[in-house]
Amino acid sequence: MNIILLGPPGAGKGTQARYLVEERGMVQLSTGDMLREAKDSSSEMGRIVADVMARGALVTDEIVIGLIREKLDKTESNGFIFDGFPRTLAQADALNDLLCEKGKVLDAVIEMEVDDDALVARITARSTCAGCGEVYNDNTKPIPRNNFCTNCGAADSFVRRADDNEKSLKNRLMEYYKKTSPLIGYFYAKNQLSRVNGLLDMGVVKAEIAKVLK
Ligand code: AMP
Repeated sequence: MNIILLGPPGAGKGTQARYLVEERGMVQLSTGDMLREAKDSSSEMGRIVADVMARGALVTDEIVIGLIREKLDKTESNGFIFDGFPRTLAQADALNDLLCEKGKVLDAVIEMEVDDDALVARITARSTCAGCGEVYNDNTKPIPRNNFCTNCGAADSFVRRADDNEKSLKNRLMEYYKKTSPLIGYFYAKNQLSRVNGLLDMGVVKAEIAKVLK
């Protein structure tokens, strides 16, 4: 089963992808994670990507489609979760072609709906365990006082993303509404779209997604 998790930054796509990896053995393909890896390398592409990401803009279709193509060529799985990809209509068309080439189908697109105020509150208070990806929130799920991750036990592993600040977030949201939200209509028209309320407790969202994937 191959699925897309669609939604603005902070909607909880990464958290839900992690549940699906743990419980169903699916493979998460997050272009954000791939780009953060590229950014940390000393390549020319890394420098370009770092600048674009810091501004909260979108990296070119060519680069992200290339990254996804490479991963699909290298990875064997019957269950991919596309997390943060596609983000433009051109990327959606490219994904369709890539899946066709590989004889695979897209089974579902799950849109995670969250309102802007909740996104800002979530993102500006967010930190993540670098070891396992567990997400913490200063207000609702603070980092444990002993500094050990409650999920994987790693010590002092909490990081805040450089682009999780109000200025970058504003641009990331603008990019979402301008370039990514048209995908909602695109997948609706193809009868592939399901919606879940991303504002609910993460466990409830997980159950809603399980219902869609049944
Ligand atoms: P994310 O971790 O999905 O929030 O992505 C972080 C940043 O990486 C975004 O703000 C973009 O700058 C870049 N990015 C991630 N995925 C894509 C994509 N599919 N297309 C273009 N840029 C992307």
